[in-house]
Amino acid sequence: MPDLQPIQPGSEAPAPPPFRVDVQVHDLLVSPSSRPSAPRMPSPQPLALPEPVFPQRPELLNAEPEVPPRLPGESPYRRRWTPPLVYHAMRGWLFPYIKSRMLPGDFHPLIAYLFTEWKCNLDCHYCWAFDNRVKGMTEDAARRSIDWLHSTTCRVLALMGGEPLLRPKFVHKVVYYAAKKGFWVYLPTNARLLRQEVIDWIADAGVATVNFAVDAVDEKPGLPKALRPVTKYFNYLIKKQYSYGYTVFFNMNICRTNMEDIKQLTEIAHDNGIATDYHINESPMIEQPHFKHLDENSTYITREDWPKVDALLDWLMEKNESGYKMVNSVKRLSDMKDFMRGKVEPWNCRAGQNSLIIRVDGTLAPCFPMYSATYDWGTIANHKFEVKQLNEMKQSCQTHCFSTLNHNLGYCYDDARVIRWVLRQAARGFQGVTGSFD
Ligand code: SF4
Ligand code: SF4
Repeated sequence: MPDLQPIQPGSEAPAPPPFRVDVQVHDLLVSPSSRPSAPRMPSPQPLALPEPVFPQRPELLNAEPEVPPRLPGESPYRRRWTPPLVYHAMRGWLFPYIKSRMLPGDFHPLIAYLFTEWKCNLDCHYCWAFDNRVKGMTEDAARRSIDWLHSTTCRVLALMGGEPLLRPKFVHKVVYYAAKKGFWVYLPTNARLLRQEVIDWIADAGVATVNFAVDAVDEKPGLPKALRPVTKYFNYLIKKQYSYGYTVFFNMNICRTNMEDIKQLTEIAHDNGIATDYHINESPMIEQPHFKHLDENSTYITREDWPKVDALLDWLMEKNESGYKMVNSVKRLSDMKDFMRGKVEPWNCRAGQNSLIIRVDGTLAPCFPMYSATYDWGTIANHKFEVKQLNEMKQSCQTHCFSTLNHNLGYCYDDARVIRWVLRQAARGFQGVTGSFD
């Protein structure tokens, strides 16, 4: 098992290992011969996505949004979950879960990550998830993906990149088409291209949540995802969420160089009544030949930073307990301390069974850390996920993996927990359907 030893500070610092799974598993995953070869999908007649009607809801376009009043002791804005919004969330998550438990077989996806783009307009130094030489997804692949997923249990579609908004019109079409088919659509973005007009498009098309990825208040070396350059877009996005009914949350990566920013961004999110989601910086799970910053990366957490990160996590846990809305439970935040030290207990990863990724070329993989794997897991409408292979692989990768979504999915994929959650939500009149699952 390769050592997950963080790099030491200074120019003599050794780089972290280029991958973190066992060598044998790694060789199987990146063997040059195994990736499905072109043509990746049977595509006799390329399909197009329909042209979105805009605006579908003209009354919302220019209306001043009604911002809910601040209640004593609460963050400034409190969303009222109307019956259609609650039903929308249930249709995305709860009903597919119930179906997945009742149907025979092992492959019942609940969430799919559609990588519409593998290019990015920024270069966050920790990030290997972009390569500007790779062409974005075609309309044909996007449409076939959505149609195929619709024939399964899956009703949550998360667009992914790179930066999806490099092609805002394409994203508008994908969101429109998926929302019309009943998907709960999730859009992550670094927000640099999230102009007011683009917000109107995706909101009108029916986006359910916007993952606003930001690591610092002002840009820092190696951390360009900052709030300051996109403040105008952020303010508009926040304001319009109450009319359209989508939610927004900050997605932050705790790095060596942004710990004070994480606190400030947490307070900004709280003041604006939105949730936060935290990750802890990590090196690639498998080798990423296109990644330029493996050596001397100022964002990687070193052993000397551990006390500072521990203190930040303690601060976040206190905030969580005091009512700040967070995607991560207190336990998950606490587990980050162990992960940073290279300790992860085996867990119930459901990737390849209840979640999957679709790459820009229409090939499949179980999860985001495996984006660059060449192993053949099939293509759109022709998956080759096998529980035996997935389980063997996970024996190696689970103890190196801190994937928030897959941890949450593994934790929630439990009837008793789901029933408890539904009862708790029902008791609160379904007025808190965001946040962590505990
Ligand atoms: S904005 Fe996102 S995709 Fe682009 S480099 Fe940063 S983390 Fe990677
Ligand atoms: S544990 Fe699951 S999510 Fe993590 S790398 Fe392995 S298969 Fe992917």
